[in-house]
Amino acid sequence: ATVLSSDVKPRILLMGLRRSGKSSIQKVVFHKMSPNETLFLESTAKIFKDDVSNNSFINFQIWDIPGQVDFLDTNFDLDMIFGGTGALIFVVDAQDEYIDALTCLHQTVSKAYRVNPQIRFEIFIHKVDGLSDDHKIETQRDISQRANEELHEAGLTDLHLSFYLTSIYDHSIFEAFSKVVQKLIPQLSTLENLLSSYVQNSMVEKAFLFDVVSKIYIATDGSAVDMQSYELCCEMIDVMIDMTCIYGDDESECACEQDSTCIIRLNNSSILYLREITRFLVLVCILRDEAFTKRGIIDYNILCLQKAIHSVFDVRTKLNKPNGVLPVE
Ligand code: GDP
Repeated sequence: ATVLSSDVKPRILLMGLRRSGKSSIQKVVFHKMSPNETLFLESTAKIFKDDVSNNSFINFQIWDIPGQVDFLDTNFDLDMIFGGTGALIFVVDAQDEYIDALTCLHQTVSKAYRVNPQIRFEIFIHKVDGLSDDHKIETQRDISQRANEELHEAGLTDLHLSFYLTSIYDHSIFEAFSKVVQKLIPQLSTLENLLSSYVQNSMVEKAFLFDVVSKIYIATDGSAVDMQSYELCCEMIDVMIDMTCIYGDDESECACEQDSTCIIRLNNSSILYLREITRFLVLVCILRDEAFTKRGIIDYNILCLQKAIHSVFDVRTKLNKPNGVLPVE
């Protein structure tokens, strides 16, 4: 198994008013909770660091803002909170009156920007499952206009906000998260080139590099992403994790294990092929039956790809010590 050094992990902060949907997003994306179960989540009003950091490519924190935040309160060490953050996701509940949320959004991003102008500001217009398509577009237009006007009035014209329409009831939340994470990976274009060249040389139709725990894809080859393929790959990862949890070695952690491989043959003569790349990342490919007869080449190319990805992230190999002492992460 291999370990990523923590400095290459994208660090993400999830913020927003209470009940905007933060814990639900966290549970659905990182803990496999089904969307309906989130109805019974208890509200938590704290800053907390999710434990996903230990088994995910993504370093993730969540911060509840209880109505008005007092940023002058010295209990908040803003330098520490915003200093190391790569992206700040602000969740706005689109099914509720969002005036207060916009005020809070403004206060939060302008404060964060002053501490760390490198932060990417990602606004999730959330719970849009209850809205018609027209209403979604209108809501996004209204929210982005108001938010940007306020920034403009405050003279913060360099502060850029990106908007996403999200819901935990479909794949939009995973897609939005994937885009947020991808922006934080400086090596993204190298990864994309590697995957494109892998796809071409292996007669594979599509290849995704996934963070196993969250099913966020951190890169894919140059061809367009169709949602159905992405969803198929997500389902494959779920199947693999379920099988590992039920039948896997008890001593191993319940996630992707060393050198995991998984093959699923679909009834449309396509094959889903999964291979572990690092402790957190797996490669999932979609290919035709015929192409899979040349599995030797495909596997050899995966080895090359794996080596290249390891060097991109400067992955350090687990030391061969008893009990497998890991290098500092
Ligand atoms: P938090 O206080 O920001 O952590 O909010 P919660 O995660 O506790 O969510 C508040 C409520 O919003 C819960 O009842 C969730 O079921 C609901 N919720 C969260 N996300 C969505 C969504 O995408 N669509 C809908 N319809 N409800 C959602």
